Amino acid sequence: MKKIAVLGSTGSIGTQTLDIVRKYKNKLKVELLAASKTSDLLIKQIDEFKPNYVYIKEGKPINGVTTIIGESELYKITELDIDLYINGISGIDGILPTYLLLKNNKKLATANKEAIICLGEILGDKYSDIFPIDSEHSAVFQCLLSGKKSEVDKIILTASGGPFLFYPKENFKDITAQQALNHPRWKMGKKVSIDSATLMNKGLEVIEAHYLFNIPYSQIDVVIHPESIVHGMVQFKDGSIISHLSPPDMRIPISFAISFPDRWETDTKKLNLTELKNLTFIEPDYSKFPLLKTAKECGIKGGAYPIVLTTADELAVQHFLEGNISFDKIPEYIGQVIQNSNFKKPESFNDVIKIIEETKKIFWNILKLQNVN
Ligand code: MN
Repeated sequence: MKKIAVLGSTGSIGTQTLDIVRKYKNKLKVELLAASKTSDLLIKQIDEFKPNYVYIKEGKPINGVTTIIGESELYKITELDIDLYINGISGIDGILPTYLLLKNNKKLATANKEAIICLGEILGDKYSDIFPIDSEHSAVFQCLLSGKKSEVDKIILTASGGPFLFYPKENFKDITAQQALNHPRWKMGKKVSIDSATLMNKGLEVIEAHYLFNIPYSQIDVVIHPESIVHGMVQFKDGSIISHLSPPDMRIPISFAISFPDRWETDTKKLNLTELKNLTFIEPDYSKFPLLKTAKECGIKGGAYPIVLTTADELAVQHFLEGNISFDKIPEYIGQVIQNSNFKKPESFNDVIKIIEETKKIFWNILKLQNVN
């Protein structure tokens, strides 16, 4: 029996993780469920999976289960008897649990790229034990099993291009949240869906790959691949490219993170290669999707820049979803925040949190100024 924790259990990754647990009740036991707050779905999950512990960021104790409440108590989840923690939390909320788990040498499988990026400078040395759930990174992880690290020429991340790949740029200003949330290939949470529409998601994934695989930016490429069948590739020095293909279904990388080094049957419909017909690969259009470039530049600059980028993006996405800024303005706001920031390289967890808090202030000031004008 593998004892697992599901952080962000009511979100997209969390619910898909529990789909796998439901299929493998004889192999997996949910020891802990964690969510930001109590909800009908969380109560349903507790009834079904009967965890011994539940963590909520805020709220009251939940009947019939030991409830850990509040960030000051979060460290307690690292003291439980758990074989694998799965972090499906969306955005910078996932930073504290990621920090505590890695600091205490816990086994972590994570889809929370923002935490990997923001903690990269201070915890990067602990990243070699992380199991990636982000589909591209799971793919690259699997391709890397084909050779030695020293034999790698480059890592190639694929991007679907999102819903606006072929949409004219002059119409970007009119894009609604509903249109942007409607991803053509993947079933995902709101934050990552908007990031996919701006291609910021791929930019964040480049930085994620840099920290996870400890590889220089000059050896990480991005290609647009609208079919979303090839999820990642590794080109080795001899000219061989090893690639990972699967239907676009997050349950595959989640399942592999749980079952590794074994592979378990999943409920995903298997690929039929003759039905695919074409696999296309296109150079990204940086003028249409400037955030991909912005993200790479922030990654290369390093220090506090990846944290500023991640924070500014999270706020820009939130304000776009709330209708406060238009889709075409997302890159502008993020660019302005970066220009107005000047932080030293973080040396500690407190530094990281401080950079996030200060970046939020810079964002709010810019938003206020724009609204006055
Ligand atoms: Mn991804």
